[in-house]
Amino acid sequence: MSNTRAYASLLASAPLVPFTFDRRDPGPRDVVIEIHYCGICHSDIHQVRDEWGGATFPMVPGHEIVGVVSAIGKKVKRFRVGDHAGVGCLVDSCRKCANCKDGEEQFCQKGAAFTYNGTEMDRKTPTQGGYSSRIVVDEAFALKISKKLPLDRVAPLLCAGITTYSPLKRFGVKKGQTVGVVGLGGLGHMAVKIAAALGAHVTVFSTSAGKQADAKRLGAKGFVNSRDTVELEKQAGKFDFIIDTVSAPHDLNVFLGLLKRDGTMVIVGVPQEPAAVEAFSLIGGRRRLAGSLIGGIRETQEMLDFCAKKKILSDVEVIPASKINEAYERTVRGDVKYRFVIDASTF
Ligand code: NAP
Ligand code: ZN
Ligand code: ZN
Repeated sequence: MSNTRAYASLLASAPLVPFTFDRRDPGPRDVVIEIHYCGICHSDIHQVRDEWGGATFPMVPGHEIVGVVSAIGKKVKRFRVGDHAGVGCLVDSCRKCANCKDGEEQFCQKGAAFTYNGTEMDRKTPTQGGYSSRIVVDEAFALKISKKLPLDRVAPLLCAGITTYSPLKRFGVKKGQTVGVVGLGGLGHMAVKIAAALGAHVTVFSTSAGKQADAKRLGAKGFVNSRDTVELEKQAGKFDFIIDTVSAPHDLNVFLGLLKRDGTMVIVGVPQEPAAVEAFSLIGGRRRLAGSLIGGIRETQEMLDFCAKKKILSDVEVIPASKINEAYERTVRGDVKYRFVIDASTF
């Protein structure tokens, strides 16, 4: 057992406080990663505040984890001590069901082991996330990161990157297509960069007029204030694909109306309340509404390699652990450019 420094929420909605706990000793197939940085995803906030129900405490959040391998088990093949490595939202799965065999471990039919607010596959041992100094994980769920890349700016790719890359690829977004990105936060800014790198013509729909210059800098060609109904109407029927990253309740019908015939809107944001969808929003234009959950391990590695090749990194504000609670408040207010990343040396 190794004593690990961390920040945890001890009960629902409580502020995060310094916390220590034990990580397991590495098994034959485990790697030990000394964490250097961990991103703050809005899902961390939803779960700390138990907005989705069923949260378990104490909770050490964090699933945008990057660091350096400090020890490996005897049977580890893919990593050596000193390698840069990452861990995203998954730390294990059954590895036998149809979805695991397809490399879609996030949909494991036995229920995957999520990085925190869950359990290992024994269904007993709680998992704890990356707001901590160290993690021990089976090498099959660790990602390889090039040593040439700045680790702080890679961290958000482990969730925000894969969550936007996966549906853009799955729905075949390609050069010349029109893509709308709703919400310019952590996921949204990665969606803009990745869709632009795929050659799409990207428009951002944002409630924050002040983000217009950033949207262009990140690679968007268009920017629409989503509170301006006149401007929104001008965009009707123009989009092949829309990705909705908004974390709070909002009207989906408005954005469905912006799709072309046979266009697809994918929901990745997870507001607390259900949304009402009018049949007319879908049947006119034979439009599709879909959802997407992170991505499997194989696809996460593919995304990291794609981002390395295209020189895509996250725009981050690095903070010490003592600023986590403030960063949560700022994220909820939309005051983040565009991901808070915790410096793990401050735990
Ligand atoms: P974030 O950084 O807080 O970004 C969310 C953005 O949504 C905000 O920056 C804001 O953009 C917009 N927004 C916020 N409140 C709004 C409101 N009331 N009305 C309209 N727009 C609003 O959050 P994130 O980390 O990107 O995560 C976004 C959502 O995705 C969260 O719900 C998170 O849990 C979920 N998520 C899902 C997956 C998955 O696998 N499906 C993975 C990770 C995260 P503007 O200022 O531009 O309007
Ligand atoms: Zn996340
Ligand atoms: Zn499985």
